[in-house]
Amino acid sequence: MSWESNVRRVIPYVPGEQPKEKDIIKLNTNENPYPPADAVLDVIRNFDTEDLRKYPDPTVSGLRDALSDSYGVPADQIFVGVGSDDVLAMSFMTFFHGDKPILFPDITYSFYDVWANEFEIPFQCKPLREDFTIDPADYLGENGGIVIPNPNAPTGLEAPQEVLEQIVASNPNSVVIIDEAYVDFGGQSMLPLIEKYDNLLVVMTFSKSRSLAGSRIGFAMGSKKLIGYLNDVKYSFNSYTMDRMTMAIGCASLADHKYFLDCCQRIIDTREWTKRELSALGFSFPDSHTNFIFATHEKWQAKQLFEDLKAAGIYVRYFNKPRIDAYLRISIGTMEEMQRLIDFLKQYEQV
Ligand SMILES: *Cc1c(COP(=O)(O)O)cnc(C)c1O
Repeated sequence: MSWESNVRRVIPYVPGEQPKEKDIIKLNTNENPYPPADAVLDVIRNFDTEDLRKYPDPTVSGLRDALSDSYGVPADQIFVGVGSDDVLAMSFMTFFHGDKPILFPDITYSFYDVWANEFEIPFQCKPLREDFTIDPADYLGENGGIVIPNPNAPTGLEAPQEVLEQIVASNPNSVVIIDEAYVDFGGQSMLPLIEKYDNLLVVMTFSKSRSLAGSRIGFAMGSKKLIGYLNDVKYSFNSYTMDRMTMAIGCASLADHKYFLDCCQRIIDTREWTKRELSALGFSFPDSHTNFIFATHEKWQAKQLFEDLKAAGIYVRYFNKPRIDAYLRISIGTMEEMQRLIDFLKQYEQV
């Protein structure tokens, strides 16, 4: 016996690499290749450091009001966290407290099973179909909650709104979380349905579409009741999660709506160009509605290609997992970066 018998042992989530070299092409963690809005720089330049003496607003009301204006949702139906990972972790803790297993797809964001283990929540993975689409019938039985990313990661596929609505409508006794980390790249949000279903929580992030992965801003929108329960758990854990400067950065980012739309459109255009080039080179992939493409090659082995790309200074993501070990997840960078990836692949040979 030792103190180690009292330790909660978990297997942590493994994030994509953050290499130190500056001159690499980094297409491995779905970051945005464009800088945050200019207004964010102004906030940082003009920030009054005297303010840092004081604790931040635990209710994050300034940023919640700004989100309320942007999304047309009352502020008391919005919860803000330190990245959507924080929002999702809080949501698992709050809403998945029953005895029945929670459900999520077998191929999905690899943090879900980590949180389920961490919080000792029973879970069941529901296999996606062969083509990575979701079968709603898998989610109609008894369960303790449901979490689905839409569009899904790492496949990039978007499920039709009717399919997701059917899942939400058929599960009035469970909270259904839709993780919309990538919805701004051409997806359709479930947000309008939070008025109709009080068990639906929609989660979004500033990390991908707003170029602010380094600032850690995520938020959830749902019925007043859901948000109230989330706040109770948050205030029982750590009230001051978001710092003063980050709140101001979030507001500045929301204020420049045109820049946000322009960046998303540039990424969509680059993605569509990259799809055509990859197809011509013998790759196939689910039709991505995100800022990444999940591609497999007719001849080349994914793991070998991943390593050869890395040796050439191009980082993509490889998952050594059943069903997806023949795929690479390639984030959409700038047009120049994608051109260099395609140039590399055009001269590539695998022995
Ligand atoms: C990136 C990602 C997140 C987490 O993003 P944050 O940086 O924590 O906001 C959540 N869900 C999915 C599906 C993601 O891809």
